[in-house]
Amino acid sequence: MMKFKEVFPPNAYSEAAADKITYARDGSEFEGLVKAVVYPTTKEQIANMIMLGKSEKLHFTIRGAGTNTLGACVPANSVVVDLSRMNKILEMTTNSVTVEPGVILSNLLKEIQKKGLFFPIKPLEYKVCSVGGLVAMNSFGLDIRYGRVENWIEELEVINGNNQKLKISGPQLKDFVGMEGTTGIIFSIKFKLLPAPLPKTVSIFKFNTISALMEKYDFVSKNKHVTSVYFLDEFCSSFLELGSSLLLIVEYDNDNGVIKNDEEIAKLDGFMEKLQHLIINKKYVSKEDPYIPIENIPKFIQWLRKNAIPCYGYMHLGIFHPCFRESSPLNTELYNIVKILNGSVPGEYGIGIKRKQFFSNPKLSRIKSNHDPSKIFNRGVLID
Ligand SMILES: Cc1cc2nc3c(=O)[nH]c(=O)nc-3n(C[C@H](O)[C@H](O)[C@H](O)COP(=O)(O)OP(=O)(O)OC[C@H]3O[C@@H](n4cnc5c(N)ncnc54)[C@H](O)[C@@H]3O)c2cc1C
Repeated sequence: MMKFKEVFPPNAYSEAAADKITYARDGSEFEGLVKAVVYPTTKEQIANMIMLGKSEKLHFTIRGAGTNTLGACVPANSVVVDLSRMNKILEMTTNSVTVEPGVILSNLLKEIQKKGLFFPIKPLEYKVCSVGGLVAMNSFGLDIRYGRVENWIEELEVINGNNQKLKISGPQLKDFVGMEGTTGIIFSIKFKLLPAPLPKTVSIFKFNTISALMEKYDFVSKNKHVTSVYFLDEFCSSFLELGSSLLLIVEYDNDNGVIKNDEEIAKLDGFMEKLQHLIINKKYVSKEDPYIPIENIPKFIQWLRKNAIPCYGYMHLGIFHPCFRESSPLNTELYNIVKILNGSVPGEYGIGIKRKQFFSNPKLSRIKSNHDPSKIFNRGVLID
């Protein structure tokens, strides 16, 4: 590793035991082995790192903020490439912003808002996730109208496993967006921006029965001003001290909602974040993210209730988050139920290490071998 080490200044290369422990894990239950941790700050460093790393037979695990819950940042005796120091907003115009991958999404959203502009992809973990991770996972926010982040990328700059610097746009984006870091390192992203929308309003509806909830959902989903509909079951509403009923929290892009006051709305926004912590505090450490088609949502909720599985979700996207205590057999049964109900896993969080065995996609393997034939990036993730 002597030559490889010299790519980085001393404060950007570590073989310290504490770092090896920290970077052995991400937000999942998996644990791997770390050879070293590096913190590049330029694309030139990344290119040199790849060149020397290849000659020394090293391979790399790419890491943004490390929130992934499926092991996509878990190293396999690899050099962990922490991109958090590449955190500059490079340029902002009235319709685009160009950023380095380590920018934290919430910081970017603040800067965009200051200019009276809007970036529509805001996933639940926006306060911690990096934009590089957002793109590599092809994440989506909670407003159904905007889809996944792929719709909001104008151009990417990447270095692939052949050590080629590429500028990518249009259909070629698929070679990197959603590939979970298996094809190369994204070092610059140009996002599209919109003018700021009008303030939202919110209504909360409580139900005792699944049929009443579905009836209300059917009604609100016909309103073209509805942007998001959150579902909370009795467990989640009681964790939040909102009673213990089934709940729908409906967001509108006009004044149709009952709650119009900015402060109240900000408080509600905090609910879903607070819920994440409460669920973990109650020792529900594993969360799944199945997609369930609308017609089968009642059967799915019945199954959850029968098995006392806390769950929240996004009715408008058909994505639910059942929460499990560690090594619950129901976690595996969930996959069968989802299949029976014509749903799919993953709905949201990707594939990583955890779900690889359930998905083999020859198209992904072809993309991987074009860009990373020697498999230097993210070994064990997404594709073998
Ligand atoms: C509580 C919680 C809520 C979530 N809510 C949502 C949600 O609402 N919607 C949604 O879609 N997803 C959601 N997710 C999943 C989420 O999108 C991703 O975990 C997140 O965007 C990844 O950001 P990160 O910086 O933590 O990436 P990491 O976890 O660090 O990395 C994720 C993947 O991206 C790769 N990667 C990171 N940076 C780069 C780069 N520069 N170049 C190439 N590859 C890279 C990594 O190798 C890894 O494979 C949630 C996750 C959690 C834990």
